[in-house]
Amino acid sequence: MSQPLRSKDQHEHPGVSTILSGQVMVPICCDHCRRETDVSLQQLKAQHPILCEHCYEVRTFSDTELKLTRMLLANAGFHFA
Ligand SMILES: [Zn+2]
Repeated sequence: MSQPLRSKDQHEHPGVSTILSGQVMVPICCDHCRRETDVSLQQLKAQHPILCEHCYEVRTFSDTELKLTRMLLANAGFHFA
């Protein structure tokens, strides 16, 4: 009696993209003090002004920056709608 060979197909896909929820915090670098403030994706998408928690500089997140962030996250395997 021979046992059938069982192939253990455990294909891991490290490149599988993850959908990020709006609650995910993204570190945004401050133009003024160069430190990072965590801002939620939801807030970024809505392009609310971002208040730096270090120097209280207010900045807005432009369309270009939003696209750039989207691209960077996509490269890292993260996507958001
Ligand atoms: Zn700052």
